[in-house]
Amino acid sequence: MNTTDFDRFFLNSPAGNENFQQIVLETQQLISEFYKTNSDAFSGELPEVIEQEIDALPIRSKEGDDFLVVLDDVQKRIVKNSIHVSHPTSIGHLHCPPLIPAIAAELIIATLNQSMDSWDQSSTATFLEERLINWVGEKLTLPLSSDGTFTSGGTQSNYMGLLLARDWFCDKHWNWNVKQQGLPPEFHRLRILCSESAHFTVKKSAFQLGLGEQSVITVPTDINHKMNTAILAEEIERLKAGGFIPMCVVATAGTTDFGSIDPILETAAITDEHGLWLHVDAAYGGALMLSETHFNKLEGINRADSITIDFHKQFYQPISCGAFFVKDKKNFRYLTHHADYLNPEDDEEVGLVHLVNKSIQTTRRFDALKLFMSLRMVGEKNFACMIDYTVQLAKQAAEVMAHLENIQVCNTIPEINAVVFRYTDNTEENLDEKNTFIYKKLIHTGTALIAKTRVKDQVYLKFTLLNPRTTIVDIEDILHSISQFAAEYEDRGITQ
Ligand SMILES: *Cc1c(COP(=O)(O)O)cnc(C)c1O
Repeated sequence: MNTTDFDRFFLNSPAGNENFQQIVLETQQLISEFYKTNSDAFSGELPEVIEQEIDALPIRSKEGDDFLVVLDDVQKRIVKNSIHVSHPTSIGHLHCPPLIPAIAAELIIATLNQSMDSWDQSSTATFLEERLINWVGEKLTLPLSSDGTFTSGGTQSNYMGLLLARDWFCDKHWNWNVKQQGLPPEFHRLRILCSESAHFTVKKSAFQLGLGEQSVITVPTDINHKMNTAILAEEIERLKAGGFIPMCVVATAGTTDFGSIDPILETAAITDEHGLWLHVDAAYGGALMLSETHFNKLEGINRADSITIDFHKQFYQPISCGAFFVKDKKNFRYLTHHADYLNPEDDEEVGLVHLVNKSIQTTRRFDALKLFMSLRMVGEKNFACMIDYTVQLAKQAAEVMAHLENIQVCNTIPEINAVVFRYTDNTEENLDEKNTFIYKKLIHTGTALIAKTRVKDQVYLKFTLLNPRTTIVDIEDILHSISQFAAEYEDRGITQ
């Protein structure tokens, strides 16, 4: 065995380069061919069938298989039964169709394989990421003191927001260094407030940060599913009077189910008054920054101490791609650790930038490239049009649905582009079961991928209209199928 035997597996050799061209071409052909004929959002296969197909798949080979053989398996057993997120009726979760320039960028990202932790692993990438962070900062009208980092998504960004909130608060109030000393003696009295519709990762972060889920106090929402800030203010007073120590409020800009946006300005006035950290979870709603028409819905976001934005939602980026921002870049110090081999302190003195100082990850992807290539190729104006279109589509869909006798819409005027509803009828019987039946039927006939959630402990259905290629006709077709499946459910009841 000679090391040149491996040339064809790697770039930077004639054999590798040639192999690369061919493999990429074959892969691209497979994808294009598939989408040329694909007609459904999903094959409809049952989970047990898909699992059997995967079980039958050899996951390794001794001598190495021909790439075309591997591709053939991928096509038949993986691509075929995948969820087709670019299909106009794939409208379940906050799960977007990826932009083509971003898919191309993924190839470059993987090829260059830069790592965003230290400058000597990401020479150009470090600076490009910083420019994109600055671009978002400008869009959100953040102050010059602000800074940010790319993350794996909203979960990581929310965790970072609460981590900085905790450490900043303990530093400010007790001169306590959590990084050095661990949690302060008073830790079990610290409280985080958010609305009852906030993302579950607020609680998950709280327990990971050693504060326990008990530290998260949920505030009721109003009829529009926005945090009731009058109750928030009362709750803070009540907690203080009870000997608890509120440290942070999380406002959500785009709740996962309804897309509702908490009153950020009013919340900021309250956090200012009480000296609390304000984190805005704009994982979903952050994309409104691209729209002149809807940007005002984020008013006050520049008052936040930290912000979560997801690019793998309505910025149409392939997973994963998110970001985290702080109003005052000095606060990143709460998570910086200097390692001699990676980011020694004396490098800072000579101006070398090591992005690991701002991240909880070490080895990290060059996701900034795909956002960059998308912004350049698509253009800000087209991004704005896509967002505006989907918001308009949701409004129109909700209007159509409000006129249907058997559909009950929860948010008749959607704030962004999610519509929550359920099928109902005069019997009012078994509605949870009936809606669950409809949801499954839509999936397993390949008609549409919609989402199922609970509102006030009852089963509801949801359209999340991120795709700018979904039309009102698509929605009407799905609604038609919904009434057919409801009838099927009734018939099934009779024959049983
Ligand atoms: C999606 C979402 C998250 C979680 O983000 P991931 O990217 O899935 O980790 C957090 N908060 C809100 C409001 C979200 O919509």
